[in-house]
Amino acid sequence: MHQKILTGDRPTGSLHLGHYVGSLMQRVALQDTASQTILIADMQGLTDNGHNPRKVADNILNVLADYLAVGIDPERTVICLQSSLPALAELTMYYANLVSVSRLERNPTVKTEIAGKQFGRSIPAGFLSYPISQAADITAFRATLVPVGEDQLPMIELTNEVVRKVNQVAGKAVLIECRPLLSKVPRLPGMDGKAKMSKSLGNTITLGSDEAEIRQAVKMMYTDPNHVRIEDPGTVEGNVVFTYLDAFYPDEAYIQQLKRDYRHGGLADSRLKKILEECLQETLSPIRQRRAEVIDDKARLISILRSGTEKARLETEAVAREVKASFGLDVLG
Ligand code: ATP
Ligand code: MG
Repeated sequence: MHQKILTGDRPTGSLHLGHYVGSLMQRVALQDTASQTILIADMQGLTDNGHNPRKVADNILNVLADYLAVGIDPERTVICLQSSLPALAELTMYYANLVSVSRLERNPTVKTEIAGKQFGRSIPAGFLSYPISQAADITAFRATLVPVGEDQLPMIELTNEVVRKVNQVAGKAVLIECRPLLSKVPRLPGMDGKAKMSKSLGNTITLGSDEAEIRQAVKMMYTDPNHVRIEDPGTVEGNVVFTYLDAFYPDEAYIQQLKRDYRHGGLADSRLKKILEECLQETLSPIRQRRAEVIDDKARLISILRSGTEKARLETEAVAREVKASFGLDVLG
């Protein structure tokens, strides 16, 4: 079956290595075989930046430049802007009446985020309900496949619940269910070793990082605190440098050999870090170069986003119209 793909990111900062291995590489590969749309989710970016919309606005073209830099081709992938697609907001309002607050509060990813942000009862209503707006995004494009990181699995589950509820209320199959597509590295830990590399945790290596920043990031990385002398046996599990080598180094057999050497003793942290640093420099150098080439041509970036958003507008309006009609609310057409 021809797959329809919807994926995207919040423009709350530059994209990072977690995005790269967690979903961007897959998106680049999928452009050849599927019909793919990438949504720059600026409205969703506002859910925890309501009082600082400039931060979101300023990152829209940054994120677009990141896409082009990693090899997303606007001729083959539609790239569009959420806030210019009112049908997404319309669908969000319909769906919001089919999802309970307790269901939203049970979402494990949102729960962790709420705790991390220390919102308490001051949580913005938009933040608690952002999974509903994601359901609107996915269904508005009739997506069947959604390339995401692991933290997004509860959102896909909720989306499919919404699909079933809408179809039940409508009495027919108006919407289609989707499935997630995880990458080989569904959750890259932060460079500080924390569970996830993420913009809001401030533990990222961004795609535009320069050589010195990459060097510094690797230097700071956590290895095995008990590996004091080179000849001591070292631990691979939980060793962030190895986690990154697993994620980025192309020759798996070589990494397996390094792990054996490290466990046995005799492999220095400094050598391990040098291998990782070279690997990350090689991965990021062409991306940084392409990024620098595209970022200054604002007119071209705007034109790419405008034409993608126009295509998406027709598609999303058609779905919103169909949902509305299936509820019998098309009294005025
Ligand atoms: P924020 O902290 O503002 O939520 P983020 O760094 O989590 O930002 P998002 O824009 O929320 O980035 O995530 C966009 C997509 O990238 C999602 O599919 C998410 O699962 C994926 N992703 C983000 N961080 C990682 C990571 N560390 N490993 C794998 N996938 C990731
Ligand atoms: Mg996130």
